[in-house]
Amino acid sequence: MSQAQAPVRSGGGLPALGDTSELPASAERRLGDRIASSIYRDPDYLDDPVLGDYLQGIWKPLMVTARARGELNAELEERFAWDIMLVRNRTVNAFALPGGYLGVHLGLISIVESPDELASVLAHELSHVTQRHISRLMSKQNQQMPWLLAAMILGMMAASKNPDAANAAIAGGQAVAVQNQLNFSRDMEREADRIGFGVMADAGFEKQGFASMFDKLQQASRLNDNGSYPYLRSHPLTTERIGEAKSRLQLEGSASPAPSGETARARMVHGLMAGRARALGDPSVDGVRTMLADAQRVFQGGATELGPRDAGALYAGVLVATQSRDHSLARSLLARLTAATAGNPVAADKVQLLSLEIDIAAGRAEQAPRLASTTSRAAALLQSRADLAAGRPQDVSDRLQSWVSAHPRDAIAWQMLAAAYGQMGQSLRAIRADAESRVAQLDYGAARDRFKAAQDLARSGRDTGSGPGNHFDSSIVDTRAREIDRLLREQALQEKLDR
Ligand SMILES: [Zn+2]
Repeated sequence: MSQAQAPVRSGGGLPALGDTSELPASAERRLGDRIASSIYRDPDYLDDPVLGDYLQGIWKPLMVTARARGELNAELEERFAWDIMLVRNRTVNAFALPGGYLGVHLGLISIVESPDELASVLAHELSHVTQRHISRLMSKQNQQMPWLLAAMILGMMAASKNPDAANAAIAGGQAVAVQNQLNFSRDMEREADRIGFGVMADAGFEKQGFASMFDKLQQASRLNDNGSYPYLRSHPLTTERIGEAKSRLQLEGSASPAPSGETARARMVHGLMAGRARALGDPSVDGVRTMLADAQRVFQGGATELGPRDAGALYAGVLVATQSRDHSLARSLLARLTAATAGNPVAADKVQLLSLEIDIAAGRAEQAPRLASTTSRAAALLQSRADLAAGRPQDVSDRLQSWVSAHPRDAIAWQMLAAAYGQMGQSLRAIRADAESRVAQLDYGAARDRFKAAQDLARSGRDTGSGPGNHFDSSIVDTRAREIDRLLREQALQEKLDR
């Protein structure tokens, strides 16, 4: 089994009481896996392939640069998950969890105005991880057992979802309790700023993004807008942080150059993704009404060239019109958006994905033109969704079989494969793919149940759909069932040790 499928489990145990050393990477990863497996099952966890690809496009250069600068060592890179989890939440937040898991709220994507601003936040969080801030905190606070800490982090995340006044006391109380346990020190914040700034600048992002992000946060903190900016609670803007950021930018000569054509195109792409984050993050009646009104305003304005914000308003309008089943409005807005992004290949690509998405939603998958390229994750998964809706399961299995062998932790791809096998009457393969989607989300109990069901089906001889390959498939199922059994036993043992 590949490294990616199994949680890392070798290595030392947890530090003894009074030990001030760092928590070993393997123990920190185990703790992170436990938190992640709960988040994957949370209805507000959002695996959106379009926003996911966009974030990865910013994240990957940061990782490469952190490695080149020597901040990210080989052990950490191999042991940690390096998974960015999207959270369907309108508030502005990003956070680092144990084991290389990072969280980004949709609200953050929708308020920043450039990939550079987003990069400055991600580079800061990445630096908390590479500098082992979490493990240092956990070792310092080691009177608190890690499993309890995991429970508290989850409690805090649940509470932060409900920002209304009735829950503020509970949320506030929990947040304070967690802050006492897992709150980065002022020195750690300054270190993450310093290293994060170096990483994002070396990765080729505009340094000005770091300054404008700071300005945004500063404005929000002046307005005392802490409810919609949980990021300010976990990352208080101290006078030292602001002073250091300013002098760093002056030192680096941050006179903002006139935006190049490339910058303008990147901002346009960001505008679209911000629109998507807004549409996916705010399902309220008021939110939908506002987004539709904004889109109509841009549409009726009739300008031939659109700025990123207006393009984002159209994008959001297309999505919410589709959700409200107003397909003809979605089509007209999309036509404007297509014209406005024609000269920007990356933006045009995003708009084409959107077009296929609304065709599927409108029940027109069969007539929809196929995507020219399905090399990106978003394109591969969206085209597969269209193929499933149009009754072309063979195309899906051809495409996604090789995809999951390269990306075994892609739960959505496994689920689509399961659906494709189901359409083809290959029940054994369908159950196995479903089981693998549970493994991908670290839900080993559910995976074991499905592997057992697959074994029962194979023994009964009722699965005729797989044809001559049946014997091969059932031996894979047996092997995987044994591996998952072993993982579950090890996990139970480890949990006893951790307590
Ligand atoms: Zn921080």
